[in-house]
Amino acid sequence: RRHTAMSSCEARRAHAVLIPQPAQGHVTPMLQLAKALHARGFFVTYINSEYNHRRLLRSSGPGALAGAAGFRFEAVPDGMPESGNDDVTQDIAALCVSTTRHSAEPFRELLVRLNSTPGTPPVSCVIADGVMSFAQRVAEEMGILALVFWTTSACGFMGYLHFAELIRRGYVPLKDESDLTNGYLDTPIDWIPGMRGIRLKDVPSFIRTTDPDDVMLNFDGGEAQNARKARGLILNTYDALEQDVVDALRREFPRVYTVGPLPAFAKAAAGEVGAIGGNLWKEDTGCLRWLDAQQPGSVVYVNFGSITVMSPAHLAEFAWGLACCGRPFLWVIRPDLVSGEKAMLPEEFVGETKERGVLASWCPQELVLSHPSIGLFLTHCGWNSTLESTCAGVPMICWPFFAEQPTNCRYVCDKWGVGMEIDSNVSRTEVARLVREAMEGERGKAMRVNAMVWKEKAKEATEEGGSSSRNLDRLIEFLHSSGS
Ligand code: UDP
Repeated sequence: RRHTAMSSCEARRAHAVLIPQPAQGHVTPMLQLAKALHARGFFVTYINSEYNHRRLLRSSGPGALAGAAGFRFEAVPDGMPESGNDDVTQDIAALCVSTTRHSAEPFRELLVRLNSTPGTPPVSCVIADGVMSFAQRVAEEMGILALVFWTTSACGFMGYLHFAELIRRGYVPLKDESDLTNGYLDTPIDWIPGMRGIRLKDVPSFIRTTDPDDVMLNFDGGEAQNARKARGLILNTYDALEQDVVDALRREFPRVYTVGPLPAFAKAAAGEVGAIGGNLWKEDTGCLRWLDAQQPGSVVYVNFGSITVMSPAHLAEFAWGLACCGRPFLWVIRPDLVSGEKAMLPEEFVGETKERGVLASWCPQELVLSHPSIGLFLTHCGWNSTLESTCAGVPMICWPFFAEQPTNCRYVCDKWGVGMEIDSNVSRTEVARLVREAMEGERGKAMRVNAMVWKEKAKEATEEGGSSSRNLDRLIEFLHSSGS
């Protein structure tokens, strides 16, 4: 009888199913949201792709996916062909097409199974990644409340939301490849709501195509429109950081929940759930000990995230730029950072910098960024990295690679005053010059002051009574009151 009483209590618990796009920049914030919901009493099912499930087991050990009381992991196939190498970033465009085609039915079957598993409360809501709209559709077809979590910046999302209008007005597709270099991308775009002063080059990079059928142009543009159909839109940002864009989105979407920076709320998860990690690569924590031995604010931290690839020539320019700047550095180089081959640094570079440079293949980035020795972040401006840097009060040098990274870069440099952009065709002299300017120059001083302001505002937003904190309360209330 006691057992029955316990299960009926468990059975009444709200059950949130969260499904991220199977890429690091989505897995991480979705896991943070999952932890925040669990800390507020939700039963959580977190869904990885089978490919990432295997990777997480390898990178973090079998305990990583064992779950905990009220927190379970499940996996669905992504439909991608076997790659033979289980430790690389999958082709993102192919992944978008493949998950849309192949993950919907397994996802539906999983929801059915969850709903008939003894000891598991019925699914009350699905939180679908914005670029996994099939999950939103499946949930709705089953009569389950579905919300969308768009894991990029609000400005990035607003950009995607206007792909259709950019096409309709004839800005894209580009007429010719030469539009990439002839100044056309400097065209001012002054009509996207809440985004005054941007140029075509600040819009997410998938518009840089001459092909009207380009996969990412159509996919991301379409997925952003799909988000309109969801019952709510969750964003990993805070109001003060992107006030104009967020206000504009609130005029178009009935329920916008800006609940960022999510790492702050994920920290509320204690015990086993708190310890769950979501890194697809094995972390090298040795670099933290090295940081302990460095001077405060002295180290340049270099990391281009999980997807960026570059040519061997660009890798060499970054290397010699770091060698020339004379500063200690921590450089994270994924084994698949260089397109088509294993990332190899010039031998003389390694010899010349071994006294003041440390290399790693993956690091615990949040801990690194909040380490007092870090003075500067050379980044690709992925949204999580940007937000983590802002929260740690660390200025940036930006080398955006693709997607909404150029949009984030524009905001980092011009709206928030915490970064400087580096030319996409990077040269060693520019790397060294910008690092010196950021660490020693006037511009650097101003960036550090601004970075501390945004750090403080992020803290305010996530403290009790702050905007994101209140929005998280509102979101939870909505999930409870409308959940099936
Ligand atoms: N990350 C990490 N260690 C690394 C590199 C990245 O922990 O060595 C994390 C980083 O903190 C961030 C995420 O991986 O949370 C990368 O997401 P982001 O949006 O910055 O870029 P993406 O990888 O999607 O391009």
